[in-house]
Order: sequence, then structure tokens, then C-alpha cells
Amino acid sequence: MARRRRGKHIPQRTCIGCRTTSSKWDLIRVVRTADGVRVDPTRRLPGRGAYVHARRACWEAAFKRRAFARALRTQLTPADLEHLRAFMASLPTEDDAPGPALDDAQP
Ligand SMILES: [Zn+2]
Repeated sequence: MARRRRGKHIPQRTCIGCRTTSSKWDLIRVVRTADGVRVDPTRRLPGRGAYVHARRACWEAAFKRRAFARALRTQLTPADLEHLRAFMASLPTEDDAPGPALDDAQP
């Protein structure tokens, strides 16, 4: 029974926040466009891209390490930072969420 891989290769990308590798489908793509740095939910925009987990801790780490500017090889404008920070604010904080936020009722 050698059917575990489903015959498809899943591309791996490195999160610029925590530096671990994941399937690209588990990561948010950020792309450098002519209009500035944008989150790319479709992963289809042309341009130099970087990948970050959909986890606030990874985004905070990326900001702290200036990983966006390095990965995208550009200077982030205040508008770019605002855009990225607004997106980050919409992400879950699963790593440091306190217990009451979880709703896993015991059977
Ligand atoms: Zn990460």
C-alpha cells in the first residue's frame, strides 16, 4: 500500500518568521508589487514573494527580524507596514491563546 503521497508533490516553503519549512498551502504569501508589498491570498500575483505561517507569532518574529524587507529585497514603506500589520491583527494567536478562548467541550 504505497499510496500515502497521493502522487502529488507539495511544494515546500520556508516561513520567514520561524524559519521552519511547511507546505506552501499552510503559509500566507506576501508579494512585492509595483504598488507596494501586499498580502496575496490567491498566491498568484506576479512578483517576488515571501511566505509566513498564518500565525501571529510568526509575523511578529518577521517584523522584529526585518525579514520582510530582506526576503522581498525592498524597503517597506509606512503604508506597506500598515497593510501587513493590519493583516497580522486578523490572525489567530493560537500559540499564546489563553484557555478560555478554546471551545473544546469534553464528550
Ligand atoms: Zn512560521
